[in-house]
Amino acid sequence: MSGAEPRGAESTPGPGTDGAAPVETVVFDGLGLANAIRAELAEEIGKLTAAGNRAPCLAVVLVGDDPASRSYIKGKARACKRIGMTSVEHLLPEETSQPQLLALLERLNEDDEIDGILVQLPLPADIDPAVVGEAIAPEKDADALHPITSGRLLAGTQELAACTPLGILAALDHHGVQLEGANAVVVGRSAIVGKPISLLLQMRNATVTMCHSRTRNLADVCRQADVLVVAIGRPRMVKADWIKPGAAVIDVGVSEVDGSLIGDVDFDAALGIAGLITPSRRGIGPMTITMLLRNTLHAYRARKGL
Ligand code: NAP
Repeated sequence: MSGAEPRGAESTPGPGTDGAAPVETVVFDGLGLANAIRAELAEEIGKLTAAGNRAPCLAVVLVGDDPASRSYIKGKARACKRIGMTSVEHLLPEETSQPQLLALLERLNEDDEIDGILVQLPLPADIDPAVVGEAIAPEKDADALHPITSGRLLAGTQELAACTPLGILAALDHHGVQLEGANAVVVGRSAIVGKPISLLLQMRNATVTMCHSRTRNLADVCRQADVLVVAIGRPRMVKADWIKPGAAVIDVGVSEVDGSLIGDVDFDAALGIAGLITPSRRGIGPMTITMLLRNTLHAYRARKGL
């Protein structure tokens, strides 16, 4: 195995690749780790409030009434409540203009009771997400949308970083995956997943190869990976024979196929080959929300000097 060690997770023996010994695949329990980290955050918030401080507060902004987005923000509000963090929701109608949204963000930036701001994506077509990202005060940028936040990551500091990449790193660390000197391959170069996780892996001294839709011989490149991170949104594109036996495989992709959520990796076929794999349900998703909570708590502490 390339460093993934079973730790409190389900382990599934599988067939292995032709000629290679079968590998015991550890299936990452994202919900379990998320709950454990949230319990720590709840304890930390409990201590802060017991000492007379107000609870940290996340402001969640949604424009329009996309049902999936509504369900995501409800989940985020529930997650806040469970750890003793407050949240306020701003549900704006679909016809909200960009200046109206920017005016709300300005108020939230100035509101001392708000520690973190999350604008749920996607936004309606006539609102530019880049302009919105830049309108969030960097010190309240819990979802890491502001270019200053990504610039700080590029410069080597990660006080606030994008939530999914932080969740990926926590998953790899939880399983003791060795990153120093490892060959890491990241497929997908989005600003919210691919680019920041490649920086975080480099900060941990992995040798990182970035892949995208124009990469040649993608399967061959993936086969070199000790750590393979896939964030493309192409259901089951990564096949069993793209995976180096024992590799840690992080499948970020979530696509709905016939009513089921499917990842970018052919999960069943990868069992017995990957050393560690994240499932499409209860995998990286719960970790992403957990890192949003952690970023908000971090922003609160930084703003209050606690
Ligand atoms: P994105 O903005 O949708 O971009 C997709 C990336 O994949 C692009 O860089 C694209 O390359 C690359 N790509 C597309 N087809 C490819 C192919 N055939 N071969 C190689 N690369 C290919 O990315 P995203 O926002 O990171 O989302 C990716 C997936 O992750 C989606 O399924 C999304 O739902 C999921 N996601 C999950 C979470 C979570 O918490 N679980 C969080 C965020 C995203 P080019 O740059 O060349 O176009």
